[in-house]
Amino acid sequence: MQILDGKTLSVTLQREMADEVDQFLADGKRAPHLAAILVGSNPASKVYVGHKIKACTRVGIQSSLVDLDAEITEEALIEKITEMNEDPSIDGFIIQLPLPRHINPEKVILAVDPSKDVDGFHPTNMGKMALGIDTFVPATPYGILLMLERYRITTSGKKVVVVGRSNIVGTPMSILLSRNAPFGNATVTLTHSRTKDLRAQLLQADIIVAAIGRERFITRDMVKDEAIIIDVGINRIVDETKKSGYRLVGDVDFENVSDKCSFITPVPGGVGPLTVAALIKNTLKAYKNTFK
Ligand code: NDP
Repeated sequence: MQILDGKTLSVTLQREMADEVDQFLADGKRAPHLAAILVGSNPASKVYVGHKIKACTRVGIQSSLVDLDAEITEEALIEKITEMNEDPSIDGFIIQLPLPRHINPEKVILAVDPSKDVDGFHPTNMGKMALGIDTFVPATPYGILLMLERYRITTSGKKVVVVGRSNIVGTPMSILLSRNAPFGNATVTLTHSRTKDLRAQLLQADIIVAAIGRERFITRDMVKDEAIIIDVGINRIVDETKKSGYRLVGDVDFENVSDKCSFITPVPGGVGPLTVAALIKNTLKAYKNTFK
């Protein structure tokens, strides 16, 4: 069994991008700029935005955080987004999800200029991605593709089961892995809460991508020998031994499943850090597009 070490790989990718940014600066160009909108004070969202901003600093990308009150109206948020669309100093920006209940995330995503949509959530970018046209690929699936590429894990002809069909992870992942493209060409089954006999599906999988949001949901009896497991889930469980009072576990029962696998991502330290690296890659892409 080999651990897919997202933390180390993310550091490598960030170093490569830092070299690229250094080169742009040496050529007299301005630094790239990523902005993040955070609405409210969801503690997990604050942590994720913090990771993204720290990564920007490491790579030499300028970052700015727009911290908005949880009570902000949808209208005022969209106004802020329009302002950022029009600000030439910003190459790309993200709106950290989830948003407070009174704000419709679809309306918000639609308000983002697709050329600055470095999260790749806008329908224009989703559509391009589905058609295989070069664009911003949503950060988590993109990070997973980078992991497969760097660990030289081939997907062509393999049977993949993706669990979870969210617009930000499961659905784009299933599309990317089934495209006729490098790190595609897999035979993909997209499963969800209405799937009958998920275990039978999983037992056929050469590769499992778990994006459910249920702690240790995928157990040893659901996984075939030598399977490759990509665990996207991030679940907080109570742990009195930790200062914070909690620890993070994935959607897969890592402790009991890992020795059966050929490759597996840990949680934390697997997909999470690569999501950040992929977002930074998208930001660099948006920056480079401004010179075209
Ligand atoms: P959502 O919460 O939007 O959706 C969960 C999906 O899981 C749904 O499609 C749901 O099915 C499916 N599901 C729920 N219960 C079952 C079940 N019993 N059997 C099969 N499928 C089930 O998912 P996200 O993609 O937003 O998040 C998933 C997890 O990944 C979360 O833990 C999240 O924190 C984490 N995450 C991690 C990231 C990272 O960078 N590592 C980035 C993004 C998310 P249905 O559609 O039928 O309701």
